[in-house]
Amino acid sequence: MSEFEFKPIRNVYLDYNATTPLLPEVKEVMQVFMDKYANPSSNYAMARENKTAVGAARKNVASLLNTSSNNIIFTSCGSESNNQAIRGAVKQLQKKGKHLITSEIEHPSVLETFRYMETQGFEVSYLKCNTDGIIETDTLQGEIREDTLLVSLMLANNETGAINPIKELCQIAHKSGAIFHCDAVQAIGKIPVDVKDLNVDLLSVSGHKLYAPKGIGVLYIKDGIVVEPLIKGGGQENGLRAGTENVIYIMALGKAAELAQTNVANRANIEQMRDQFEAELLGCYSGAHINSINTSRLPNTINISFPGLVGDSLVTELDKRGICVSAAAACKSGSSKPSYVLTAMGINPSDAFATLRISFGVQTLHEDASYALKQIKAIIDVSKG
Ligand code: PLP
Repeated sequence: MSEFEFKPIRNVYLDYNATTPLLPEVKEVMQVFMDKYANPSSNYAMARENKTAVGAARKNVASLLNTSSNNIIFTSCGSESNNQAIRGAVKQLQKKGKHLITSEIEHPSVLETFRYMETQGFEVSYLKCNTDGIIETDTLQGEIREDTLLVSLMLANNETGAINPIKELCQIAHKSGAIFHCDAVQAIGKIPVDVKDLNVDLLSVSGHKLYAPKGIGVLYIKDGIVVEPLIKGGGQENGLRAGTENVIYIMALGKAAELAQTNVANRANIEQMRDQFEAELLGCYSGAHINSINTSRLPNTINISFPGLVGDSLVTELDKRGICVSAAAACKSGSSKPSYVLTAMGINPSDAFATLRISFGVQTLHEDASYALKQIKAIIDVSKG
């Protein structure tokens, strides 16, 4: 039996940026609503009860973002929210011009939407990030024009955790008369996000990044911002997103949003564990470096390159030892191309291939971190020969 072939003594999930488990309180609410099957639009007590419950969940989400229930629509996922925001807003604004702005390091649900907009006759500027993975205000200032309709930039990057100066970027867009969409999928539930303070016009959320199920999302729409619905039909979600409400998942997200208030307030605990883990990782391989280290980052995320090693092989070896991490974003793992986020930051392709993304969550125990660290050190020692 080789030293890698043994039954893991522990299962440790350190990939919270890919998705999160359901919290027990979220599961409990889902269980209750599995038997409350009435359509919230029907006209009897059972249905009215569900309508009221959906209203309460909407209020919880609104409160997490510091807005009102009227400004929240439920969607099927973060990808839908991004598509709806960009395509729906541009449709309303197209008389003003044909120019749109995003960045090179957005999630595919944003990038592919902009590529689609190009096929529809729009001109798109893809902003470059700096070496820390940040979109600088000067970069936006240099590209924005009088005919720019919309700027879409992410709050926190899913691979590096780097946090963009959204408030300042949004100010630049507004000064030029453009509206601002923010993909906040990775930030919500990890750091405080206040839509009034940021002053964004549209903001996307995904349930499965904050301990609710996959398949539920939210789009925040500021008062006065008009979007054309992508999914037309019944009048649900203020006529902006047709489809009978997924009451079970909406209730799950409402509970997750309520719990997120406490989790965000306690984020220093995760950050402390992350910082200690990171310092020990750096110590076990000479030349290892943390990406986006010189900027503010999500408190749970580590993006580390081990030049000379192969990220995918590390993921496989860790998997054999019961540890779940990513070599890049979950939707890109197994790709033969280096991470486009890391290469956009100026990291050479071989270092980009030598990278692990490790992301902690509220259920990560100190014992989990110690076990993972011990296993990573053992794998690295073997690979050093
Ligand atoms: N935006 C970012 C930054 C993400 O990380 C993700 C998911 O990984 C999404 C959007 C898409 O969210 P969903 O999986 O709910 O479609």
